[in-house]
Amino acid sequence: MLDGQKITVLGGGLGGFTAATALAQRGAEVTVLEQAGRIAEVGAGIQLSPNGVAVLDALGLGGEARNRAMRNRAVRLVDGITGRDVIRMDVGYLRPAQTFLLFHRADLIDILHQAAVAAGVKVETCARVTRVDIGQAGAFVEVEGQGLREAPFLVGADGLHSKVRDAIEGSPTEARAPFFTGMVAWRALVPGDGTEAAEAVVRMGPKRHMVSYPLRGGSLINLVAVEERTEWAEEGWFNRDDPDNLRRAFAGFGSEAQSLLSQADKVHVWGLFRHPVARTWHRGPAAILGDAAHPTLPFLAQGAVMALEDAWVLAECLDDKGMTDGPALYQARRQLRVERVIEAANNNARNYHLKNPLAKALGFGALRLAGAVRPE
Ligand code: FAD
Repeated sequence: MLDGQKITVLGGGLGGFTAATALAQRGAEVTVLEQAGRIAEVGAGIQLSPNGVAVLDALGLGGEARNRAMRNRAVRLVDGITGRDVIRMDVGYLRPAQTFLLFHRADLIDILHQAAVAAGVKVETCARVTRVDIGQAGAFVEVEGQGLREAPFLVGADGLHSKVRDAIEGSPTEARAPFFTGMVAWRALVPGDGTEAAEAVVRMGPKRHMVSYPLRGGSLINLVAVEERTEWAEEGWFNRDDPDNLRRAFAGFGSEAQSLLSQADKVHVWGLFRHPVARTWHRGPAAILGDAAHPTLPFLAQGAVMALEDAWVLAECLDDKGMTDGPALYQARRQLRVERVIEAANNNARNYHLKNPLAKALGFGALRLAGAVRPE
């Protein structure tokens, strides 16, 4: 047990709260530091494949998760132009223990946040960390306006531009700097009428694809649309764009896609960058997880799911092997799997955008999904 072990989790996102809850349930005294003024997620959907739901089940949150999310029945790959199915993967047959869920992000973070509080986690908002120092005996974090604080063990769940990752492996050199993939992703929520099938639909076309799935009983539909282009866009959730840019990019797609796009009135765009996986996920009394360790392109819907898996395995390793040997075991158990998932996600970008539908069916990386997302 981690009884009384003091642990600071930097970052109150999906990975951070999963780690905080898993650690607190094993007896640790956990504090989460989050820069935002309140615990929330962006207004967007998130697919949680069975390996992610397995972590919620292990934390005792599976019942509530199933009540608040929609159960995905299928992943359908469709030719975006003709609207015809290329492949339909039935995931409705999965046993309850392997449910595939479609969440509103706000609902998922709410479940995780409440669980952390119930497990005794102290949550500090408006706590922006500006500096991280890691020594052998302990780590220190500087919280804006509050000065330096000791963190006997520090978990970096602070996302893409992680300060804990920089403290562990140094700032990225030019050779390992993130680079623009030449793809951008728009996101939007449009109203649904509750009749949409509980399926994730990937509409594929040359150099572009669009994913849609229903949320909250079908009252909303989540859209993510990806286009290859040379024009650069910034990375991040909050860059607004003119909805007509999205509509123009998908003007050649069929009527179902047009009907969804016509309703998109608030649109954000995200420049997709490739970030290398961190070489070292731990140093002294610190470890990183989720996007902080291995940002993942969204083409296999596995970034957050990997963060959840990391969080569970980190808690298990610290519990089994202690704070000195646990972090190395954690990286050893996670790295190959995460790299395999990242590669499958990278390949999906290429497969989704192929011109020939047969090549798509053959090369379709989501067939690898079955192997990539099997619970550990
Ligand atoms: P984050 O969610 O980035 O959380 C980091 C937290 O740390 C934030 O709350 C931040 O405010 C806080 N923080 C950062 N720096 C500091 C600091 N200095 N001080 C204090 N707090 C700090 N994944 C899936 O599994 N399924 C999907 O369907 C899916 N769809 C996606 C769609 C799109 C368009 C994109 C872009 C990504 C998608 N992903 C999906 C990936 C997923 O969103 C991320 O992998 C996941 O959110 C990473 O979680 P995290 O907790 O590691 O990091």
